[in-house]
Amino acid sequence: PTMAHSEALLVLENFIDGKFVPCSSYIDSYNPSTGDVYCRVPDSGKEEVEAAVKAAKDAFPLWSSRSPLERSQILNKLADLIEHDLEAFAQAESKDQGKTLKFARTVDIPRAVHNFRFFASSILHHVTECTEMPALGCVHYTSRAPVGVAGLISPWNLPLYLLTWKIAPAIACGNTVVAKPSEMTSVTAWMMCKLLGKAGVPPGVVNVVFGTGAKAGEALVCHPDVPLISFTGSTLTAQRIVEKSAPHCKRLSLELGGKNPAIVFDDADLSQCIPTTVRSSFANQGEICLCTSRIFVQRGIYSEFLKRFVVETKKWNAGNPSDPTVDVGALISKEHLEKVRNYVKKAQAEGARVLCGEGVDSLALPPGNQKGYFMLPTVIAEVKDESCCMQEEIFGPVTCVVAFNTEEEVIERANGVKYGLAATVWSRDVGRVHRVAHRLQSGLVWTNCWLVRDLNLPFGGMKASGIGREGAKDSYEFFTEVKTITIKH
Ligand code: NAD
Repeated sequence: PTMAHSEALLVLENFIDGKFVPCSSYIDSYNPSTGDVYCRVPDSGKEEVEAAVKAAKDAFPLWSSRSPLERSQILNKLADLIEHDLEAFAQAESKDQGKTLKFARTVDIPRAVHNFRFFASSILHHVTECTEMPALGCVHYTSRAPVGVAGLISPWNLPLYLLTWKIAPAIACGNTVVAKPSEMTSVTAWMMCKLLGKAGVPPGVVNVVFGTGAKAGEALVCHPDVPLISFTGSTLTAQRIVEKSAPHCKRLSLELGGKNPAIVFDDADLSQCIPTTVRSSFANQGEICLCTSRIFVQRGIYSEFLKRFVVETKKWNAGNPSDPTVDVGALISKEHLEKVRNYVKKAQAEGARVLCGEGVDSLALPPGNQKGYFMLPTVIAEVKDESCCMQEEIFGPVTCVVAFNTEEEVIERANGVKYGLAATVWSRDVGRVHRVAHRLQSGLVWTNCWLVRDLNLPFGGMKASGIGREGAKDSYEFFTEVKTITIKH
């Protein structure tokens, strides 16, 4: 990899106790669309995590004693400040992650703003329980209190979006936090730190340590003064977190991988289904945990679906993420691109048909992007259910299309993977969509749509896709400790 000579390297610093502090060693961070190193990220370890946890612990008594309304006002102020700099955040997210500027502008950063506004509002509306036992002269009620220092670990695919989805509820509830974003996408978290003081977030309430999972992440997971960990990332890393946190019996929220099916019945409205399923397969380069990667199409419409799906997919251009006509940006890293390409090769070796994209169509890139990590959206057909392409999370712009005959059969096949995060069902038969939705082993089921979210409702996965849920009530419950109090009069 070559260095970007024209511009100075961006050097990030940890944010501890309201101040930026340099680190003794750094990791190179790449611009995925050029292949250049453009940023240096602190390579934090035990020492930095220790300092951050101490700051968070010290800030806890005061922050947790503020009223929900005071905390809410601060969250709203922070939302306004991020929104004010939306364009700068979007540019930074696109450059750091490889995603299109269009996507960062319309999805990532607006959602980060909304996360703060949403929890600023929802924290004001929780009601605790109360029961009476008149015969015994007793009344019971529950009270909820923040837990303490929350450890927050987030992935590289939706960097600020997913980090703020944790920071917002954690601090709204009165906890203080130590956050560790992905070492591959740390820039927008660092930019947000610059706004915390201005928003009125007291020093020590939000601390951010940058670095790798193995060093900084594990130090956080193993720290005895961090009683809860909210993690979004891969199932493999989650297993390690469960293991490492076990001696401390920590409270864990785990949002993990997916292998999400789309089920298309022969009465589906294809004019809606096809463009939405192309989007659900390839949005953000297919690097969303909710992306569709197995499309089951009922036999009667299979060949028509396939033909129209490929035509629609070919409309998605890959290339320079800042180009407004581009829909598919760069993948996160060279290694990840190789991994995704290898899945396509394996499918071919097993006798599947690659209908468009990788290895079939040629990708023309502008001169500045020749070394970027690009690949065309790829559609594979005639893949066996037991193939690794149908079982493992690829997390790239690759989707598999297969045929099915009956409702019973497709439910079994859709459930036949270790994951259970999200599914889509396409049919105009109301009875059928309810039946199928109930039987799918999936934390989220979208019918005749995709990625329509009400943040009030639970988000999370079954089976290897996670433990716990996040959302207005769920995050409130996760980030608070409940107590039952009984009064006899
Ligand atoms: P990852 O598991 O490699 O890393 C996620 C985070 O964990 C990073 O910050 C990383 O540094 C840290 N980490 C790694 N090893 C660690 C360890 N031993 N201890 C503590 N922290 C550690 O995942 P990724 O590659 O960054 O992200 C992609 C994965 O995330 C995919 O599997 C995707 O499905 C999943 N994801 C899930 C959701 C969801 O809400 N369910 C959302 C987005 C992404």
